Amino acid sequence: MEKITHFERLVIAAYRLPFKFTKTNKGYKAVQNSGGLVSAILALSEKLQQTKSEFIDSKIVWAGIGDNLPKTSNAKEIKNEHFEIVPVEISQRTNELFYGGFCNDLLWPLFHYFPSYCVFNETYYEAYREANAQFCDELIKIIKPGDFIWIHDYQLLLLPEMIRQKIPDATIGFFLHIPFPSFELFRLLPRDWRKAIIDGMLGADMLGFHTHDYTQHFIKCVKRTTSYECRQNVIYTHHKLVKAEAFPIGIDYEKFNTACFKKKTVTVKLKVKEILSGQKLIFSVDRLDYSKGLLSRLAGYETFLEKYPQWHGKVMFNFVVVPSRDQIKKYKEMKKEIESTVGRINGKYSSLSWRPIVYQYKSLSFNELVALYDLSDVGLITPLRDGMNLVAKEYVACQVENEGVLILSEMAGAADELSEAILINPFDHIEMAEAIATALTMDPTEKHERLEKMKYRIIHYNVFSWAFDFFNQTFDIKQQQHSMKTTFIDEIITENIVSNYKNANHRILFLDYDGTLVPFAKFPELATITQHTLKVIRQLSIDQKNKIVIISGRNKEFLDQQFANTNVTLVAEHGYFIKVAGKEWKSTIKTDTTWKETIRPILTEFVNRCEGTFIEEKTGSLAWHYRNADSDNAKIRLHELRDKLAELIRHKTDFEILEGHKVLEIKSGRYDKGGAANYLLKSMHPDFILAVGDDRTDEFLFKTLPKNAYTIRIGSSPSLAKYNITSIPLMMKLLKELTTSD
Ligand code: UDP
Repeated sequence: MEKITHFERLVIAAYRLPFKFTKTNKGYKAVQNSGGLVSAILALSEKLQQTKSEFIDSKIVWAGIGDNLPKTSNAKEIKNEHFEIVPVEISQRTNELFYGGFCNDLLWPLFHYFPSYCVFNETYYEAYREANAQFCDELIKIIKPGDFIWIHDYQLLLLPEMIRQKIPDATIGFFLHIPFPSFELFRLLPRDWRKAIIDGMLGADMLGFHTHDYTQHFIKCVKRTTSYECRQNVIYTHHKLVKAEAFPIGIDYEKFNTACFKKKTVTVKLKVKEILSGQKLIFSVDRLDYSKGLLSRLAGYETFLEKYPQWHGKVMFNFVVVPSRDQIKKYKEMKKEIESTVGRINGKYSSLSWRPIVYQYKSLSFNELVALYDLSDVGLITPLRDGMNLVAKEYVACQVENEGVLILSEMAGAADELSEAILINPFDHIEMAEAIATALTMDPTEKHERLEKMKYRIIHYNVFSWAFDFFNQTFDIKQQQHSMKTTFIDEIITENIVSNYKNANHRILFLDYDGTLVPFAKFPELATITQHTLKVIRQLSIDQKNKIVIISGRNKEFLDQQFANTNVTLVAEHGYFIKVAGKEWKSTIKTDTTWKETIRPILTEFVNRCEGTFIEEKTGSLAWHYRNADSDNAKIRLHELRDKLAELIRHKTDFEILEGHKVLEIKSGRYDKGGAANYLLKSMHPDFILAVGDDRTDEFLFKTLPKNAYTIRIGSSPSLAKYNITSIPLMMKLLKELTTSD
């Protein structure tokens, strides 16, 4: 995990400060709250402080809303050994609408797949914006160059872009601690809110999610909400690259594991063992929340009691619910229902000497928690939906004295890593009952082997590796952004190009066709070269010192027509064919094109479904043009087609989907413009290289050319090209200057 480049300071922004502030005569006492995020970051910061990390010279800054923090508090008044605290003040009314409303009555249920619990309210949305802006205002006051700003969770989805507007160069990471739902759910949000959320998140440089699925859902939502191109996990916004990646949050394994041996824990364990007096222990602990599937779990346990009477008197279920949001009506009602269900089950199955459920509505101390994890024979963790679920990982880490079995909901993000648990569908009570019976009778060797595999994974990707991985990947994307930085050609650069051109004797100029020499037309055959442009090309090509290469996605015949009677080298179909000036066409590779039989019917289906689109067939590729279709319809179909094709070619690494201007092309990945350029460069040693292009297909060319080449992309998109130029006429002006420079 060691790589990391450098940052001066870590600035964390999360909704709630991770402390309860109680005034004592020595200042404020900070008490840690429960919750996944807090546990993870505090563990990380403790580790960084302990190791006196070389990466962080100063205190970690934490911005958030404080509980019991007097209004007058400011960062300087709050003394803390490890943190510099930036309190964000939000009026109670705004907070109710923002946090209680937009966050917990809309985003939380929606992102956890409970759409029927969602409340859509314009006032909530306004408060959400306002609260995010408030965070932004406070952060702007303290952010310094070199800071790494790490924003957390669904309460602050708009914040990355708000900061970006104010500090364009800032390094911003964002991590979502809850699931990111599929587009089918996300689209339930009003269009404006959807767009604001996606744009807000894309203000970050790096976006982290718990699982691959959530990352893919996000990328799909980006594709459906914006016109940005996404390649693998990188999103090409108009200004920069943004990466979305899965970082499954880990735990501080050592802390939990070693705690099992600590004196305090051993004392608790002795008490628990006494109470158990030989009974098997099933344990669960969750915050009070509908996403945790508490009632469903009780139903599963009841089914177990019904089906397996032989276990009556021999097993006890310690069902711990940690108080959370219990002032809210829905949670109050849920609590009531849980308590009456527990009462009913206990009433039905208890005997004088035995109670099947021991229910506790309280927080556990750390040692109590660890003791119960360790002593339990079954960890019953069955959320209906959970971003990650740290309890599951902590349970595994604490299997020391009495190795147990983890029963885990497949709806928890943790299920991806803990595949040796008994994975169940939390809605299926019968499956849950069977899993409990299996777990209680599982052979100790099997238990041990399953645990060892899970432990291995959570030891190696713990909370520190998680954070370091996030930092490392953020720095990587920053570097990539740097190489894709847009620098527009100005007079000085033009002069430099012209003077180097003048002084060179072996020049090669690579010129793309569509969007570079010729603007786009309604149909490809109408985009023909003008006499004026042809004249410039001719002038350049008659110079003995020049080799002019037209490097295009067009077919041979079309290029032959456009450049008849010129002394230029032609590259057709993105490098499939090359015709060196004065010679014949030849193909650069042999490809099998039988794949077209699978792809053509799909494209035909999309032509039928989207009026105005058509297929262009080339020797080595098939292209779907949608320039003339209704743009809204085409956008929707394009997403569908992309998804369909991506699924089809998922396992075929030698295939690629090229996205040009209003065209999607499928071709073999074994050739591209870069390969064609290399082929031509082999036979010469140029002292001047210029390459101009306008879309993604030209990036292959820019990437392959030597560092001293002048590479230019038309338009303002981020590019590997050294320079951008705004329009075709300006590009032609530059070429014209070259013709007159000799
Ligand atoms: N936890 C706690 N106090 C308790 C019980 C649990 O602090 O009384 C911690 C537990 O150790 C875990 C976190 O709360 O780290 C719960 O995280 P999880 O991801 O399972 O659920 P979340 O509450 O974040 O939805």
